Amino acid sequence: MQRQWRLASRPEGIPDRSHFDLVEVPIPAIEPGKAVVKTLYLGVAPVMLRYMRNETDFESPIALGSVMAGRGVAQGIESDCIDLPVGAIVQARVGWQEYALIDTSQRPAPFVLPTDLPLSHGIGAVSLSGITALVGLRDIGNVKPSDRILVSGAAGGVGSHVAEIAKALGATTVVGIAGGPEKCRRLSTAMGYDEVIDYKNQDIDQALDKTFPDGIDLYFDNVGGALLDNVLGRINRRARIVICGSISEYLIDKEKRHKFINVQNLGRQDAKMEGFFVFDYENQYPACIDTLANWVRNKTLNPVEDISEGIETMPDALADLYLGNNVGVRMVKVAEPDLPP
Ligand code: NAP
Repeated sequence: MQRQWRLASRPEGIPDRSHFDLVEVPIPAIEPGKAVVKTLYLGVAPVMLRYMRNETDFESPIALGSVMAGRGVAQGIESDCIDLPVGAIVQARVGWQEYALIDTSQRPAPFVLPTDLPLSHGIGAVSLSGITALVGLRDIGNVKPSDRILVSGAAGGVGSHVAEIAKALGATTVVGIAGGPEKCRRLSTAMGYDEVIDYKNQDIDQALDKTFPDGIDLYFDNVGGALLDNVLGRINRRARIVICGSISEYLIDKEKRHKFINVQNLGRQDAKMEGFFVFDYENQYPACIDTLANWVRNKTLNPVEDISEGIETMPDALADLYLGNNVGVRMVKVAEPDLPP
């Protein structure tokens, strides 16, 4: 038997345990062309709230009573699929459960992870968080050495990688915004940020005036809303705004979301604001993982992870994202591998 989290109800606000049921079900039997995998780590992402509300078109609707969707690091334990052999360590859409039956038709397809690095990095640095930071900075942000860079949500799963990756791509100065003194301390001591702004304890206008007296060249945005509007009023010529996410608005009804007043500045400054979705860059994953893994090996990239133990902690891990409780990549360790990785 195995444990599995099922969606019990759709949250209005921050998701919690009451929105899920933890049930015991049989471990799935092998089927032709598929593999049974054992879940080792599960990741949480802000977008899961939107899965729970059926608000995304890339994740199939989750009916109440079905297993909660999500991706994790898993090991093949039985296989009838040449690309998912027994023993392989993969990042895949396994759902919130201890064992899953998967195949290669899911999108993004399961991908094999390097095994010389901690397997937890398969949730963050050498996986979708790292790839999101890399693609966002390089392909959307076109980062340049002279850029004065600002990152919001800087101590989160994606943001915790952005300063070090920006520097690996040639940047020299990266400023991070996060909430609270402990997060801001970690931005400077563990995540490669040169200057930090604590938006919960500092006046944001004064802090941005002081930190960016000559304006902002590149903004990597994880939060959206009023802060994005503020930054739009401060951009330099040919600035680039990378819309990675808008977590400050995910819990707010459409009509109550921030009304932007500085968007015209994009035209005035010949600037660019562009969103992207990491699932659309699947063909780049192998090259990105190679690059990110090498940066971890040579300590250019030093992942910060926030790990709780046991599948029973999944709902709390998801809530932590919306409560601002995570520092770095929030994940749950579910089990040890059965076979040596
Ligand atoms: P994350 O940043 O770890 O999310 C949690 C953090 O968000 C919290 O610790 C908190 O940090 C901040 N936060 C929570 N509520 C907030 C609010 N109301 N206002 C401002 N900040 C708030 O999550 P992540 O997985 O790394 O994702 C970061 C963003 O990227 C999200 O918007 C996500 O949807 C997006 N994303 C996009 C892609 C893509 O393909 N474009 C891929 C992955 C993620 P503070 O305490 O510092 O506020």
